[in-house]
Amino acid sequence: MRRKLVIGNWKMNGSLAANSVLLRGIAEGHVEGNVDLAVCAPAPYLAQCQAALTGSPVAWGAQDVSAYAAGAYTGETAASMLQEFGCRYVIVGHSERRAYHHESNELVAQKALAALNAGLTPVVCVGETLEEREAGRTNVVVCAQLQAVLDVLENPALEKIVLAYEPVWAIGTGKTATPALAQEVHAALRKQVADRSATAAAQLQILYGGSMKPENAKDLMAQQDIDGGLIGGASLKAPDFLAIAKAGN
Ligand code: 13P
Repeated sequence: MRRKLVIGNWKMNGSLAANSVLLRGIAEGHVEGNVDLAVCAPAPYLAQCQAALTGSPVAWGAQDVSAYAAGAYTGETAASMLQEFGCRYVIVGHSERRAYHHESNELVAQKALAALNAGLTPVVCVGETLEEREAGRTNVVVCAQLQAVLDVLENPALEKIVLAYEPVWAIGTGKTATPALAQEVHAALRKQVADRSATAAAQLQILYGGSMKPENAKDLMAQQDIDGGLIGGASLKAPDFLAIAKAGN
């Protein structure tokens, strides 16, 4: 059986003081069961995460990574740098980066590859906008986003990624996808991976993200193909984040 994975995406929030309280709360409150926990912090705070979480069962990671290994890419962070700060995960292709930084499916795929090459686990985000959903294009959109990643990965590498389905209309809006609706997309994504590798599909963790909260986490994670959550707003308060993690047990 697949373990559950709950990842907090802090987005561009936090301060040394606030993080210190949050990280302590999470590390002290996490009860190890069938759920693994991680936080994805802004890059300047990765050293703080490393100091606070080393030796705890909570992992950490970043929210973006360069597709390049090194060089003249002002403002970018290389996967090897994230690795030096102990990151296990890095989010790639979050809808906010696709929307505000015009990241294409192909660039996201290159970022996933760069992460894997440095020994990191990319958390590949896919998701449709409201307009795309209303036009009945959800599966076409998310499958194209996933396909770009499948196209650049060999089979063993494919077994090392995490996927996150984050409907854009559910992010930060308080509107959660119903468990049945999310399950439908998760199942389609898993089938797409299964067409390439049954082994990879069987062990692939597919997280749901978009207004996941303590109140709705249990029903979402009870779905057959929902293996955890990628949590924005509710990951900034230790009690809420821990309650979501507990709901996965
Ligand atoms: P919210 O949980 O705030 O809706 O954000 C979800 C998200 O974008 C996580 O990556």
